[in-house]
Parts: sequence; structure tokens; C-alpha cells
Amino acid sequence: MYRFAPSPTGDMHVGNLRAALFNYICAKQNNKKFILRIEDTDIARNIKGKEEEIFKILKRFNINWDELYYQSDNFSRHQALANKLVEQKKAFYCYCTSDELDAKKEEAKKNKKAYKYDDTCINLGILDNKKHLIRIKKPDEALSFKDEIKGEIKFEKDTFDSFVILRENKIPTYNFACAIDDMDEGITFIIRGEDHVSNTPKQEWIRKNLGFDKKIGYAHLPIILNEFGSKMSKRDNASSINWLLNEGFLPSAIANYLILLGNKTPKEIFTIDEAIKWFDIKKISKSPAKFDIEKLRFINREHIKMLSDDEIMKEFSMDKKFALLIKFYTQEASLINEIKNKILKIYSFKEIPDEYSKSAKLLSKEIDALSVVPNSFDEFKKDLIQKTNLKSKEFFMPLRLLLTGEIHGPKLDELYPFIKDDIKEIVKQ
Ligand code: GLU
Ligand code: ZN
Repeated sequence: MYRFAPSPTGDMHVGNLRAALFNYICAKQNNKKFILRIEDTDIARNIKGKEEEIFKILKRFNINWDELYYQSDNFSRHQALANKLVEQKKAFYCYCTSDELDAKKEEAKKNKKAYKYDDTCINLGILDNKKHLIRIKKPDEALSFKDEIKGEIKFEKDTFDSFVILRENKIPTYNFACAIDDMDEGITFIIRGEDHVSNTPKQEWIRKNLGFDKKIGYAHLPIILNEFGSKMSKRDNASSINWLLNEGFLPSAIANYLILLGNKTPKEIFTIDEAIKWFDIKKISKSPAKFDIEKLRFINREHIKMLSDDEIMKEFSMDKKFALLIKFYTQEASLINEIKNKILKIYSFKEIPDEYSKSAKLLSKEIDALSVVPNSFDEFKKDLIQKTNLKSKEFFMPLRLLLTGEIHGPKLDELYPFIKDDIKEIVKQ
């Protein structure tokens, strides 16, 4: 079993989607289920509606889940297991107030020491009616796990303290809920961002104390850097999947790019289905990958060229008769919106600058009068030049403006075949 476990606390970012994709692909490769688990334990930071947004994005990428869980549905299970650990003396009630803990943290800071909980309450037992939280006793041994990307990772026992598993309000901490749910849901392999590396031994320790002895595999993904070489964050627009989609990047292109990033793949342009045939999590680079939006634009153009007529209708909200013109315009632009605007401009009324307006009118009139629109641009051109007596720039610039509404653009002889059938409508003045 594989899972994607997003928290509904913010926009889905490229790192999240990359983890979702890799888990989904590996699940398909291994004929295992792919589980979606909404990790809504951080009640204060949950944002209403974010999980619907996650569903919507995953569906747009055709990442379909077999089972859906909400972590908060399991709170009573988490509480029961916390109490069980207390009964077994593997966990204990901690009555320290936050003021007391803050003072100790302050003290540690003054002495330039890393703060660790000092086990003040470890032997106090259960005192009724006293506010408390629950901590699991710290590991008495070094903990290590094997990461498919990073290799063996070992944590010495003095890295840990007796850490909180259940808060005062009885809400489990992330590590506790995650460790239990992964165990209960039968997760066999976890792919997630490397910001979770230090959580892994804690989750393993929790499961060990609960008597769970099955092995879970791990792959922690290196962070994604922005163009300046620092960790991509909310401040980088391109880190948000919604932003990329709104800009006019295709889901298939974004997926292609995120699979390619920091990876060794047999080809550069591919679909998720193709990647399922050869994807190998072990080939993901250990070092951080740099997000290159120019590369993504290139991949987007290639994916636009691969769209079927039906996909063109869906992604561009345009009639399928524009499919070839849209693909032709990938030489001019990369994003859905950019291309769409250029094509809409071709089909709109054009304001022609004064210096060309007379010639443009003349051309428009002669084109409208054509009894047959020639198939070849050469013929079309010769015919019009003869009828209008316009020469070189006097001919080409007004014609370009009439056809495209722009001064710069594709070669007219190459554009012509795609628009010839509508040309009278296009050049109307
Ligand atoms: N909810 C965590 C996050 O969004 C994911 C934890 C995990 O994959 O274990 O970062
Ligand atoms: Zn305490």
C-alpha cells in the first residue's frame, strides 16, 4: 500500500504533487492500492475547503485514489493507543505547564544547548484532575532506517527526548497519528519530502512500542529549489499547482516535468502511464533539484502538440477545428492562455494603424471578393498583389495585421493553410 497524506493547511505545492505522483506511480507498478489520507490533525491550521481543492487537483492529474481517509476520524483510536502506552508504562502523563517548559527552553538557549524535555514527570504516574499531555518515553537505543534515495540514516539515541504524542486537548500530534494510520492502513512504502526525515525514527519508535514489527520502506525526496537556489516557498508563484494550472500549463506537462526533475529517465517527454513502465524511485538524485520554468514551458509545448481533438476542446475550451492551428502556434507561445489569446485575436476585428489602414482596407475588400480562396499561399499572394498593386512591405505588413492583429508572428505562408477556410471572416474590416 502506498499513500499520499496532504495536510489541508495550504495550497498544494510542487513538492506535494511530486510526492503524490511518485506514490501513485509506485502503487500502480506494484499492483498495490493508493490511499489518500487527509492529515487534518492540526485543527488550528486547517483551512476550510482545502481538501476539496486537493481532490480537484488530483483528479485533474488523473491521480485516482482507491481509499480515502480523514485522520481526524481516527482520533479515538489514537487516544486509545496513547492510553494503552501509558498503561504499559511506555508513555506517561506530563503535567508541566507551557510557562515551565518555556523557562527551560530559555535556559537551554542561554547555555547554547539544544533543548530537550528533561523527563520531570516520567515517574509521577496518573494524577487525577490535573491538566496533562502524554509523552512517549524516549528511545533507549539508536534508531536507523533505510532510505531508497539517501541510503542508511542513523539517529543516535541522544537526539531524542520523550516527545509528545497526545496534546492536552487530546488531539494526537502529527507523528503519533501518522505512525498509527500508516500501520492501520497497511502502508508498506512511504514516499514524502525530506523535511520528514527527522520524523521517521519517531514514527518507527511509536510503532515499535505499539508492538508493530512489519518493515515499512522509505524514500525521502530532496527539496525543490527556485531559480535563485533557495528552497521553493509560497513566495515563488510557480510553487503553487493552482498557479501553474491558471497560467496555462497542462496537467500532463506539469506531471512530466515533476517526474523528470532530478531524475534519470529514458526519455524527456512522456505521460504518467508511460512513466509507470520505467519509473525507478532509486534513480531520484540525492541532491536538491532546481525548478526551471523555461524547461516546463518547453515541455508544455510538446504536450500541447500531443493533445487529441477532444483534449483540445477540454483544455482550451475551443472548438476542435482549431486543433491544428493551436499546435502550429506552439512555435509562438507555450501556455494555453497565450496561445488562445493569439488565436482569438486572429478571429477578432483588428484596429489597423493609420499608416497601413488604406492598404488593409483594399486587401480586405479584394479577399472578400475572391470567388475561390486558393489553396496555395503563393497563388493567393500573386493574385492579391496583382489586384491591389501593393508591393513588399506595403503588402505584407497590412496583410499580417489583417490576419493576425500583430506586427510579429509566424511566417504567413505557413499560417495560411490553417486559416484559409475562414479567411473572409478573419479579414473583415
Ligand atoms: N501531512 C504531511 C505533509 O503534508 C505529510 C506527511 C507524510 O507524508 O508522512 O507534509
Ligand atoms: Zn512534564
